[in-house]
Amino acid sequence: MMNGRMMDFPLTLTHLMERARRFFPETEVVSRAPDGSLHRHTWAQVYGRTAKLAHALTRLGVEPGERVATLAWNHHRHLEAYFAAPMMGAVVHTLNLRLHPNEIGYIARHAEDAIVLVDRSLLPLFEQFAASVPTIRHVVVMPDSGPAPEGRTDYEALLAPERDDFEWPKLDENAAAQICYTSGTTGNPKGVVYSHRSSVLHALAACLADSIGVSMHDTVLPVVPMFHANAWGLPHACAAAGARVVFPGPKLDPESLLDLMASERVTCAAGVPTIWLGILALLDQNPKKWDLSRLRQMVIGGSAAPASMIDGFQERHGLTVTHAWGMTETNPLGTIARVKPSIERAGDKGKTLQVRASQGFPVPFVETRHCDDTGKILPWDGKTMGELEVRGPWVAASYMGDEGQDRWAKDGWFKTGDVVTIDPEGYVRITDRSKDVIKSGGEWISSVALENLLMAHPAVLEAAVFAGRHPRWDERPIAAIVVKKGMAVTEAELAAHLESRVSKIWMPDAYVFLEQIPRTSTGKFLKTRLRETYGGMLEKAAEGR
Ligand code: AMP
Repeated sequence: MMNGRMMDFPLTLTHLMERARRFFPETEVVSRAPDGSLHRHTWAQVYGRTAKLAHALTRLGVEPGERVATLAWNHHRHLEAYFAAPMMGAVVHTLNLRLHPNEIGYIARHAEDAIVLVDRSLLPLFEQFAASVPTIRHVVVMPDSGPAPEGRTDYEALLAPERDDFEWPKLDENAAAQICYTSGTTGNPKGVVYSHRSSVLHALAACLADSIGVSMHDTVLPVVPMFHANAWGLPHACAAAGARVVFPGPKLDPESLLDLMASERVTCAAGVPTIWLGILALLDQNPKKWDLSRLRQMVIGGSAAPASMIDGFQERHGLTVTHAWGMTETNPLGTIARVKPSIERAGDKGKTLQVRASQGFPVPFVETRHCDDTGKILPWDGKTMGELEVRGPWVAASYMGDEGQDRWAKDGWFKTGDVVTIDPEGYVRITDRSKDVIKSGGEWISSVALENLLMAHPAVLEAAVFAGRHPRWDERPIAAIVVKKGMAVTEAELAAHLESRVSKIWMPDAYVFLEQIPRTSTGKFLKTRLRETYGGMLEKAAEGR
């Protein structure tokens, strides 16, 4: 073998932040506070404040590899923590503020968090678990809603005396940079430990034109929380590209987001479908109220984006959805639904929409396959269902503490738990999370496919389909429906809407009408709750008969 003669240059987050400061010092990082006011910083200022934070953390005794936790909304201080801890050789650990306090406590103990940076507005939540985490040495309050209370360390006061430059250590690119726990609905959450290298490569992948395509011309609005898979890597990608960033803080209702997108001329926004369903409904009611002419794409993932939503945004409002798939374990970008030129050229609108509503094909360096229960690799025929497995440089190789080792196949591929088909072009289509598949008689019914169809009904805002226990068929589909404001729809009308589109076996046995579908901590439909509450209704009905 002949060796290449190129430099061995470590892939670290330090380079991304230094690049943003050097080449985009005036580019803005905008944050909206809980009271709605906007705070404007620049990448140069964020860099300076990152250095100050690193000095302050050093003064507090933070050692290499130690965990600096955040309990915070999306804002510039959170961004500073995102970079300061890893760049000084420590590890930032993003705590999910939507979890139950006991669960956050478990995660903080498990990760052995030493320092916690907490939003003032979230102090009441923090107090509910703080005492259960013996490893915490210091608590720093980020004053998002007024200065820290008496007796608490205030972030701004802590930073004030420090220098705005730092001699960043030379780091090994494989050093841990960030930890994020899975929001697993079964079993304890597991810690995913990203390295500098994996985060840097992921950031570069997010900047590719056929991926998210983050560029210096963009103004990026990460609606996705910074505690949900690193806000999908967008903070790192924005630093790498020199993009302008707008952080929404805690106001995530459709109206506040639309106001922010219009006033800050956002070009690229990202979040889970539940956010965008609300936004689409509001836009339909007020199609002219907001000027979104700058918005080049909304990146949607985390659960399946319904085809009707993708089409609705495009046809009624000229807005483009980019559908992507990923997981906490994949940093998260895995696949993205870009339409290949050959499909575009064919000009078949229906097929194009089908592709845009798929989970897409992998970005470079992510590899996919799907397997049956015995581990046999299945054909890419667009029909055969199996569990999606992935590998790549930003896919987890193990969890913290080596838990959950059964999630990896013998040859190292990561088992996602998603049931998919893969077509000959490589497009992945999720039919279900394996635990959400409805097993009726011998047949597997895709809850995702039914939800997609139901959400295409003009009166339906949200639909979640889940398994009801059934005395004869084991399980049968039940549909939970949220009707759009000012509209009405009956069970019979929904059944009629589905009838021509699915086989008889797939037709839901029952409908429940709700004000809102319960959500997980990352904004997905919480089907376990639906199953707990309504899963027995078919059995009861059968007894009653
Ligand atoms: P999390 O680790 O919380 O981000 O959850 C990852 C899971 O979310 C995946 O395993 C999928 O089940 C689901 N998911 C993510 N993106 C999509 C998508 N575009 N369509 C359907 N499901 C998705």
